[in-house]
Amino acid sequence: MDIAKLTDWGIPAEQIKPLIIAGPCSAESEEQIMQTATELAEMNVPIFRAGIWKPRTRPGSFEGVGAIGLQWMKRAKQETGMLTATEVANPTHVFEAIKTGIDILWIGARTAVNPFAIQEIADSLQGVDIPVILKNPVNPDIDLWVGGIERLYNSGLTKLAALHRGFSGLEKSPLRNEPQWQLPIELRRRLPNLPLICDPSHICGRRDLLSSISQKAMDLDYQGLMIETHCNPEVAKSDKEQQVTPEILKHIIDGLVIRSTQTDDLDFQRGLAELRTNIDRLDTSLLELLGKRMEVAQQIGELKKENNITVLQSGRWDEIVQRVQMRAAKFGFSNEFTDKLFKAIHEESIRLQEDIMN
Ligand code: PEP
Ligand code: MN
Repeated sequence: MDIAKLTDWGIPAEQIKPLIIAGPCSAESEEQIMQTATELAEMNVPIFRAGIWKPRTRPGSFEGVGAIGLQWMKRAKQETGMLTATEVANPTHVFEAIKTGIDILWIGARTAVNPFAIQEIADSLQGVDIPVILKNPVNPDIDLWVGGIERLYNSGLTKLAALHRGFSGLEKSPLRNEPQWQLPIELRRRLPNLPLICDPSHICGRRDLLSSISQKAMDLDYQGLMIETHCNPEVAKSDKEQQVTPEILKHIIDGLVIRSTQTDDLDFQRGLAELRTNIDRLDTSLLELLGKRMEVAQQIGELKKENNITVLQSGRWDEIVQRVQMRAAKFGFSNEFTDKLFKAIHEESIRLQEDIMN
């Protein structure tokens, strides 16, 4: 895919370190839009966001002001010079947004799950040269995310970016949406030229975690951040807990440590190469060790088969979990990591034993 660079969006290179997109979750009034935009423009934020049509989980919550909000965005653009961005979920939204001169469109997480909806939006954008940002679908399905990008690209759009806003999950966590960082990392591997932006606001769901998630995104070499910013978050009509004032946003951005992906320093390069050789060697040993473990699991499978015993004895699995958790704690591993690791190993053992039994 021949995807355009962020600089082709008409944003100066010095504003892409990282690119900041900020503005309220929802446009609520002309005053709120103008005040927030003015304060953000003073901080040199290049892109102003606001939701006009809001996809809310339950009916009866504030569902956005509708097309009138686009007029407020237009005024904000004229008076501040910022580019404007809004969410579109269908061709009518696309039509209204483009008609009012919105510069950048984004597709939300709830729309991203639906290939019909993405295709309709892509079709409605044929022949239009506008940047489109695709949020990750709410479910952690990398193919769906990549597929959405492909649909937009096939419509002739090249100014594309992916926006990581986390995934709905059942697990209890302080975060609103699980980041599942391995997914955007995989997206980057598959589409290395696609700009990747992080939305810490919807990942966190609360203000106090925004800095650390933003820093993590920077350390994973994301090109930008979209952070919900409201001139008065306390009275926000949606996502009140996660919105920050422009002043706090400035504090978050100023606190970021931006590291580079490479250096010419030879000592560093040598040191890194040596450590990486070490890692590669250890990975090979890990695989060999796992291979040996699987061989034993297969022998157990044979034994169970001869004696007509089930593959799974849950008591035994419980014992393994407890034993490894205790040992892993000594290395400072999180319970979550040990749990995931051994679940994967156990699942593969079961698969191999099933092969032997049947
Ligand atoms: C938003 O950006 O305000 C929004 C609705 O986000 P998401 O689609 O990620 O839920
Ligand atoms: Mn929001």
